[in-house]
Amino acid sequence: MIYFDNAATSFYKPEIVRYELNHSINKFTANPGRSGHKYSVKTAEIIYETREKVKQFFHAYDYEVVFTKNCTESLNLAIFGILNKGDHVIATIYEHNSVLRPLEFLKSKGVEVSIIDCDMSEVPNLIEQEIKPNTKLIITTSVSNVTGELCDIDRVGKICKKYNILYLVDGAQASGHIDINLNELNIDMYTFSGHKGLLSITGVGGLIVKNTVKLRPLIFGGTGTESANLNQPITIPEGFEAGTIPTIPIISLKAGIEFLSKNFKNLIKIEEKLTKYLYFSLKNLKFIKIYSKPNSKNIALINIEGMDSSLVANLLDEKYNICVRAGLHCAPLIHKHLGTEKEGAVRISLDFNNTEQEIDKLIYALSKISEM
Ligand code: PMP
Repeated sequence: MIYFDNAATSFYKPEIVRYELNHSINKFTANPGRSGHKYSVKTAEIIYETREKVKQFFHAYDYEVVFTKNCTESLNLAIFGILNKGDHVIATIYEHNSVLRPLEFLKSKGVEVSIIDCDMSEVPNLIEQEIKPNTKLIITTSVSNVTGELCDIDRVGKICKKYNILYLVDGAQASGHIDINLNELNIDMYTFSGHKGLLSITGVGGLIVKNTVKLRPLIFGGTGTESANLNQPITIPEGFEAGTIPTIPIISLKAGIEFLSKNFKNLIKIEEKLTKYLYFSLKNLKFIKIYSKPNSKNIALINIEGMDSSLVANLLDEKYNICVRAGLHCAPLIHKHLGTEKEGAVRISLDFNNTEQEIDKLIYALSKISEM
């Protein structure tokens, strides 16, 4: 099998992640942060270690880490935790539905929403033009899950600082593929999922939030703290992680981050080299339309002229055992911008596990499919 669907989730988990999973299922099954016995404490300690690892990995020293179940929950926590009736929020057409849908809902509750429609390079300029006195929050993705384009989060962060506006970055596609230094960027909230570039199993994500940000919890319930208080505590992280947290996925995240930390520069280089090779190979195919740009982060978005994207993806799967993703990738507005909202497009998303030989096989398969 050839796996080019890494933007959806990473398929191959490193040995250390698999080892930790087998090991922790026997060792860390008591509930962390609830009971005081030694097994519970031991589990709480490894969760604490993971939070510290996450902070180190993202250079997030004035921040706290809230664990969630995925990036969607992290984005919902940040968006619903900040915005109130009368506030204005700016986001872009590059956003995923995990941003667009909460914003659409909030529109009906009296939140003003501006979605800017432009090429990625214009995002910072247009954001600045949209700012109003009631702008409370700006949201951008760091890397588009459709085109692999990078948003200039450094510049957007500086604009947010200048106007004293909170900045939320969707790091779903950047995490584990780009070295994100939160202490150098003016980002107030950064979200990630464990199961993509950070190489954990599914079931864990996170919101990294600056100490100064005042959030409202999304989920209310037991925290293992202040049990006599009927109001939800708002201490971070406990108040924002009501209910039992997913211990085993969190431990697998720790292992994923340890693996990446050891090899990060090298892995990024491999991905860059493979992306270059992918674009070089696609460029020679006359029947392919390429929508993304060669400097994209690990992604190529293509169509075979005259063929529906789902048909191409199905044929790649059934005849050639190659996994890609077709359709709209839960990000309809960027597809509209590209003119692919009807037929969708085929997304090839790679990571460091892929090889040039696999890309050659993909090119061969696409050529054969185009002749059908
Ligand atoms: N944002 C972006 C840019 C994404 O690509 C994704 C996943 N496709 C998400 C958010 C949501 O991540 P999850 O499925 O882990 O909730």
